[in-house]
Amino acid sequence: MARITGGGRMSTTTTPAPPATSLPIWPGTPPEYDDSSREQMVVACDGGEQVAEAWVAQIRTRGLEPLQIHVRARPAAETHLYEADRDLIGLPQLRRVLQTANVGLRLLVAGCEWQVLTVLRVAIECGMIHDEIRAHATGDPQRIVVFCVHCEAEFLSPNVLGGDPTTCPRCRRHLEVHPHVNSSAARYLGSDADAGVLL
Ligand SMILES: [Zn+2]
Repeated sequence: MARITGGGRMSTTTTPAPPATSLPIWPGTPPEYDDSSREQMVVACDGGEQVAEAWVAQIRTRGLEPLQIHVRARPAAETHLYEADRDLIGLPQLRRVLQTANVGLRLLVAGCEWQVLTVLRVAIECGMIHDEIRAHATGDPQRIVVFCVHCEAEFLSPNVLGGDPTTCPRCRRHLEVHPHVNSSAARYLGSDADAGVLL
């Protein structure tokens, strides 16, 4: 996950330009939990149960009991317009908890990428900052959230990165999905595969 570090000292002469494309980069092993706070929350998305359990066990060794929330995909068609609070069981509950959370809360989230990215988006919307969040995506992304640049639909699609186009369920265009994730919106950009241009 791209991190907003801020305040870092870098040589202005060697700082590279931001890449035109970006993909989330997940370490091979889950990050350690941040033990600088007593307020810990562990979110297990689909596929992230084992990592979440390990975090909970680690946190308990300090005598702390983390908040735990499970986020699960509701069964739905493989490609469909995406509404996070409807498609993910547990997400509305997570949002309510984060909106009333104490300052200092640390969030840990693990699971499949599209769900983890959605949880990150909700956490940021609720006022958390990147340094308070540790995330881990498990396995190869099977599905991705795509933003159609033509009709602005956001939809869940099989992972077609580098493959055949996917079809926007709203405007029916065939979309090429680009290896670029807006880290705040947590979605991949899709544009008309026949037009060959992004916008
Ligand atoms: Zn569309």
